[in-house]
Parts: sequence; structure tokens; C-alpha cells
Amino acid sequence: MSEKQVVPQESLGIIGDKALEMPKSLEQLSESEIERKRCISRVMTHMLKYLTGEFMNKGFEWLLPAIFSKSTDPLWPDPGASLEKRIEVEIYGETVRTTLSMIIHKMVACSLVHPKLFILSPNVRIEKRERANTGINAYEFHQLDFEVRNATSEDIRRFVDEIICGSISSLKKHMNDELLCLEIYHSLKVSEKPFRVYDREDLESKYGKDWEKQITFEVDDPVWVTNIPREFYDFEDFESGKWDNYDLILPKYGEVLSGSRREWEYSKIVRKLERDSVKKENYKLLLKLAKEGKIKPSAGAGIGVERLVSWIVGAKHIGEVQLFPRIPGIVYDL
Ligand code: AMP
Ligand code: MG
Repeated sequence: MSEKQVVPQESLGIIGDKALEMPKSLEQLSESEIERKRCISRVMTHMLKYLTGEFMNKGFEWLLPAIFSKSTDPLWPDPGASLEKRIEVEIYGETVRTTLSMIIHKMVACSLVHPKLFILSPNVRIEKRERANTGINAYEFHQLDFEVRNATSEDIRRFVDEIICGSISSLKKHMNDELLCLEIYHSLKVSEKPFRVYDREDLESKYGKDWEKQITFEVDDPVWVTNIPREFYDFEDFESGKWDNYDLILPKYGEVLSGSRREWEYSKIVRKLERDSVKKENYKLLLKLAKEGKIKPSAGAGIGVERLVSWIVGAKHIGEVQLFPRIPGIVYDL
């Protein structure tokens, strides 16, 4: 492929109006570009050390991810999702899917085994190729995914406020050289806590359907948006029609986290799967456990690791923070 590949633009995204220059693969980088890559990796290492350390200090268990499962996230209905294809393969005579997120595993593990858990998990989402130009979508990325039994949404949001601000303070304290090399030492600031919370309905009244992009470009600090209609596992109050869920939006980079209080009641889960035309046979175990009353109330979230680091280092494209870029539509050798 050519060194400067550009792809058609899509309306969502960080840069918005112009076609982005796509990140190069490793062997195409100059010495100074490799040095930048090295600094970004060191920032990511420090972030992961800080964040995983905070989870462990707070009594979370660290679980390892699964790659192939019969059940994974339906990613439907989700206004933000856009998949070009879903990967299903047969192993040992059974059809399995690559992990779209660890949500189902988290709900089961949190209910049956660990009341507080986190997983650093690879997600494979074959995003539509136009999404290369949003600058924030990769076709493989990682979530720092966590779940807490009996937690409220407010508990989760306050915890995330703490760890995001804490990680930036820690970077400023321990990673001066890298932040200076990336020319972000002076601009990187620790936001005030708690982050502001908006209701999606209010944003929609103010900005219309394009609320996410508008708020992304308007704010200078991370903000929460609650009450977003989407997948069955997020808690919905059928009477008020409100969803007890949340996204964290980063200035210019958009959504970095989605989470919610979860549905645990069998009858609600079934009703929502049917309403959304999501195949019940793909959620057999979850449904069995819910029917037996074994799924427990919980709340949690998944943080997009590469998106978080992109925001911190001011990346022009998410592929810049991946040593081996996974850009929609572009498949490098490594
Ligand atoms: P979701 O389950 O879609 O809400 O994803 C959880 C988080 O993962 C998002 O808030 C993003 O930070 C991150 N994420 C989702 N899709 C992508 C993608 N294609 N590329 C990079 N990060 C993503
Ligand atoms: Mg989301």
C-alpha cells in the first residue's frame, strides 16, 4: 500500500471535515516517528499500570479474556455500532463468535464468582471501512472492562472520575520526559471532579440527532451522558422509558466508555431480546441462569484503552497508539 493512504470521510469523528492521513505501519516509520511511537507505548504502559493497580487496590479480581464463544455482545441495537461483517467460525462442530465485548462473560462471572472483577480484553469488530476516517475506530482494540455486583450507576461514574483524573496526575508526576517528547506536558490537565452529567434527551432537544458529535466538540473536559437506548443488557425502566446507563465523552475524541446498571430479571431480558429481534439461542446460558434467579444486579463499564490513550497523547488517528495498527479497511502484514 502507498505511504499516505486516504479514505473517504465519514461525518462522525475527531477531525470531522477533512480526509485523514492514515498511520503508517512500523517498518515505514522514520527514526523520529519511532521515537514518538516509543513514547506513546510508554504512556500506555504507565496508564495500564496505574489503572490495573487501582482496580486491584479496590479489591477487584483480574480475569483473563475469552476469544471465541457462543455468546458475545449483540452490538444491537446500538446507534454507535457499524459492523461490516460478523465473524463466526466452527470449532469442534460448534459455531462460535470472536469477542465483540466481554459483557455476557462479565455478567455471569460477576453473578456467580467475583463480585468485583476486571478484564483487559481484545475486541474484534470489523468496522465499516469508511470508519477509518473517523480517526477513533480500529477493527481490533482493547477494553478495560469491569463489573461490580450491587453497584449503582453513580458508584461506577464516581469511580471512573477518580481513576481517569488519578491516571493523568500520575502521568504528569512520573512520565515528564515522554509527555515533553509528545509535546503535551503543558496542555495535559487534570479535570475537575465529578465530571458533569447530561441526559441524552436534553442533549437531543438542544442539538438534535447529532448530539454526540456536538457535545464532543463543545466540551473541554470529559462529560457523562446518561439514558441512551441500546442493547438488552442495559437497565431500562419500562414505566418511565429511561435507561440507567451512561457513556463518558472525551473532548474531540468522543465516547471512551459505555456502561450501565444491568438487567438481571429473566422476563425483562426475554422481552427485550424479542423486541430487538436478537436471537435468543445465542444467549442460552445467560437466559438459563436468569431464569434460575442466578444473575445478580450489577453495574459496570468498558473503557476503550486505545481511545483513552489517543485522547491523552493527542493522536491524530487511533492507529498511532497501536504498534500494529488495525485501521478499518487496511490490513497490514503485522
Ligand atoms: P461499546 O461496547 O461499543 O460501548 O465499546 C466500549 C468502548 O470501547 C467504547 O466506549 C470505545 O472507547 C471503545 N471502542 C468501541 N468501538 C471501538 C473501535 N472500533 N475502535 C476503538 N475503540 C472502540
Ligand atoms: Mg458504546
